[in-house]
Amino acid sequence: MSTPELVTKASEVMRAERQRLQQDGATVDPAALLPGAVLADLVESGADGVQLQTIRDKVNAGARITPQEGLWLLTQAPLIILAELANTWRFRHNPDPRVTFVIDTNPNYTNYCDADCLFCAFYRKPGDEEQGYAHSVDELMGVIGRSVDLGATTVLLQGGLLDAIPFDYYLDVVREFKRRFPTVHPHLYSAPEIGKMREVSGLSYDDIFAALREAGLETMPGGGAEILSDRVRMRLSPKKQSCQEWIEIHKAAHRQGIRTTATMMYGHAEQPADIIEHLECLRRVQDEAGGSDVPVAGQVPSGAGFTAFIPWSYKPSHTPFERQFPDEVGPTVYLRVLAVSRIYLDNIQHIQSSWFSEGKKAGQVALHFGTDDFGGTLIEENVLAEAAHHVKTTTEETVQLIRESGFEPARRGTPLYDVVETY
Ligand code: SF4
Repeated sequence: MSTPELVTKASEVMRAERQRLQQDGATVDPAALLPGAVLADLVESGADGVQLQTIRDKVNAGARITPQEGLWLLTQAPLIILAELANTWRFRHNPDPRVTFVIDTNPNYTNYCDADCLFCAFYRKPGDEEQGYAHSVDELMGVIGRSVDLGATTVLLQGGLLDAIPFDYYLDVVREFKRRFPTVHPHLYSAPEIGKMREVSGLSYDDIFAALREAGLETMPGGGAEILSDRVRMRLSPKKQSCQEWIEIHKAAHRQGIRTTATMMYGHAEQPADIIEHLECLRRVQDEAGGSDVPVAGQVPSGAGFTAFIPWSYKPSHTPFERQFPDEVGPTVYLRVLAVSRIYLDNIQHIQSSWFSEGKKAGQVALHFGTDDFGGTLIEENVLAEAAHHVKTTTEETVQLIRESGFEPARRGTPLYDVVETY
């Protein structure tokens, strides 16, 4: 499909969505379905007239590409050209032929959730005593301890959204984590959970992060972004926080000195222009956090804001969305998304490829599309496992996969990209 066709399709989808919601008698403000500023701009102008040579010149000069150029790359550029352009930015940010990974684990404190996201196979309704669980702080430390015993140096912890969890629980988890595992890095709670903390505590985001930081929180994962376009979120997770809230929470974390990652889950209800809108949001937030407004070749903005960007594709099995979107989009789209992300996010240092979400072979190939990190070994993972997605690895295999791809493996200890071991 050509770009003008894609843009027309995006307009049609938005129009149909508005009609559907009106027919359903939904109480949403139709204005909320209007495209965001970037999408509106793209719908109006498309990517007509974009020239590959102009983009190549910009990339070689370390200059920023426009949303129109991003959309053209995503929808029309030959894959092999994308790899070349993405690798230019990859080696500008990370000059060594090194690929990092971390020994980590992703446990959850509860799978109860009342947000009812249509793409989620993980959650259980409150009251489901057969399949639901909510760990006490002590039980949770036991779960974490088992992975720490297996070598985890970072713990990424998230859970469902529940009014019944008081703010003190989240603080107690951080404090007890730091007490029991002082050498392990706590990478805890994503933006939707911070939003829930605000609801139950009445505190501001800044006060919440100040309290979490004092308790020992060091970084925050970027989950809950899905696609940063309210048009898409309205379909995916109408009860969950808006794009603006996700963005405001990450800005507050950055202001409080807590660095975060940024994520994207694509491959469902979004259009290519929505992906560009997502990247544009992240690039602006990173600029505000201290990334450079005008990237200059050889200068790597670092030390603030997002540490890394991590995209993955939607896994439909066992989700309420499965009937509507039954198919995974596959590795070719993954490589395009990764490469365009690397080129577009000129102020974020690391882009992660995933052996886990896309499969080991695709993860290896992705290392040639602008990525410099191979993610975590994931001793425990429950969210995609509930969507019938099961892939396992070991430290030894991770090292081997990186090496086979032509790169030097290096283990980092935390999401701050501190290399602790080379192989
Ligand atoms: S994605 Fe998160 S917020 Fe949404 S239903 Fe699943 S657990 Fe709840």
